[in-house]
Amino acid sequence: MVGLDAAAAARKDRKVDVIRERILAIQPGAQVAIFAAPWQEVSDALKFSDVIFGGVDSYRARDELERFARRFLIPYLDLGMDVHGDQAPYTITGQVILSVPEGPCLRCFGFITEHRLTEEAQRYGAAGGRPQVIWPNGTLASTAVGKFMQLVTPWSLNRPAFYTEYDGNRLTLMPSRKLQALQGHRCPHFDGPLALGDVVWGQADRPVPASTP
Ligand SMILES: [Zn+2]
Repeated sequence: MVGLDAAAAARKDRKVDVIRERILAIQPGAQVAIFAAPWQEVSDALKFSDVIFGGVDSYRARDELERFARRFLIPYLDLGMDVHGDQAPYTITGQVILSVPEGPCLRCFGFITEHRLTEEAQRYGAAGGRPQVIWPNGTLASTAVGKFMQLVTPWSLNRPAFYTEYDGNRLTLMPSRKLQALQGHRCPHFDGPLALGDVVWGQADRPVPASTP
């Protein structure tokens, strides 16, 4: 994990504490709220977010987090990678998907399917931890930040691509070919007012939520 040193590992520091220390070392004036809990338990704080970066492991977790983000009209950036194969040479794939209201969702792209959810549920408990590798994750995280900058600032002339694929063997990032197939497509998965939660507008000056212990 970025920011974790030997002393923090020996103390078994929590990830959220390590990250908070890193942020405050870079910008001492930053307001940082941390929650060492499943997001569902602190969703009241999360629903006031301007953007959600998702680094969750499973399709089920992605599906739930995207649904939540869509309900509150929050842009959701999904990052993920996989290492395929039992021994070297491995294959590494990854993706950064931007899901925004009115845009295609993870289901539109065929990234989340009922088949994948069912297959994953059946595998649950049998598979070990999914390996994570720092250089693909660094690439994917920086790409997600780039999309965020394109989305919310006038920094770039381009709008962010909704789906960028990472080829971890060639070390390339490319817009997904699925984007062409979905030109002019309207997402049918989060349609209508019933898909919305209690959206709150004009909260730009709200205080940063308090951390939990
Ligand atoms: Zn959709």
